[in-house]
Amino acid sequence: MSQETEHVHCLIIGSGPAGYTAAIYAARADLKPVMYTGIIPGGQLTQTTDVDNFPGYPEGIMGPEMMEDLRKQAERFGTEVRFGYITSVDFSSMPRKVVVDENKTVTADTVIIATGASAKWLGLESEQKYNGFGVSACAVCDGFFFKGQDVAIVGAGDTAAEEATYLAKLCKTVHILVRRDEFRASKAMQHRVLNTPNIVIHYNTETKEILGDGRNVTAIRILDNKSGIESELPVTGFFVAIGHKPNTDIFKGWLDMDETGYLITQPDSTKTNIEGVFACGDAQDKIFRQAVTAAGTGCMAALEAERYLAAREHEPEVAKDSVV
Ligand code: NDP
Repeated sequence: MSQETEHVHCLIIGSGPAGYTAAIYAARADLKPVMYTGIIPGGQLTQTTDVDNFPGYPEGIMGPEMMEDLRKQAERFGTEVRFGYITSVDFSSMPRKVVVDENKTVTADTVIIATGASAKWLGLESEQKYNGFGVSACAVCDGFFFKGQDVAIVGAGDTAAEEATYLAKLCKTVHILVRRDEFRASKAMQHRVLNTPNIVIHYNTETKEILGDGRNVTAIRILDNKSGIESELPVTGFFVAIGHKPNTDIFKGWLDMDETGYLITQPDSTKTNIEGVFACGDAQDKIFRQAVTAAGTGCMAALEAERYLAAREHEPEVAKDSVV
């Protein structure tokens, strides 16, 4: 049962590039945004090392540092950044309601959802140990560091196929590890993989362990699940591309989402099916999933929230508290 209640004008849920960009725009538009960061303030980028592809950093920047910069920029214009996790929402009436950490209710005139997504991992201990030191869940972010080297990528969907062909342009050899005897990826993507000479496909193959010298990855131990034979594959990079899970469970039953949980927004917009609730970043983008695209949709969400609030100010009082 929640005890404390507070009303805010513009509530932002999530603190990745989408959330912070929305905050910068919303604060500059005088919407007095209040942001709840979620469990990992700064989001996925705080778990990576160098970011070389975000515009404006000619020498690159460390992920956590970049998120600090974004936080400071959002705060400079008056965003109130709070550590807290939204545990449930109620979008049945105006203003919209969310519960923070199960004990505080916040009502908001508009809500911007920027809860992001989490990469799925194999769950190996060694995968965690070498995360950021040869293990990565983003080829586009980290492939560059493995130029001219041998790498492996696990997964058989469109992401794995796309990332394998991306890595093949940079790396000497790309080993793609497919757990079944076929890909899940679309035929077109499979065709690209099959026609890239430096991609080696290992069907019926599982990763048992990531091996290293205590600092960096040096090889992986793989199992041929047909023959039962284990072997070592020398690689310096190990990419995991077995899917992402959008962090949208709390919105189930309120917001339209696809079968994997990605929020559905209107075309060319961040509008959800609930008036005044906008979604941006990886929570609604399963295709691009880049910091810069998340930032772009964060900007869109804030601009749409601003227009929405401006339009409401001109509505008669009675409509503002109505059930929608
Ligand atoms: P998917 O869920 O489509 O594929 C995940 C893949 O990972 C599957 O092949 C699955 O194997 C494999 N996998 C899952 N768990 C393990 C494990 N423990 N060990 C080994 N392999 C595992 O995820 P994607 O990220 O590839 O794609 C997500 C969505 O985004 C899809 O709808 C896709 O079409 C779309 N997308 C579209 C793109 C485009 O159009 N350009 C680009 C990227 C994504 P199995 O097949 O055996 O289940």
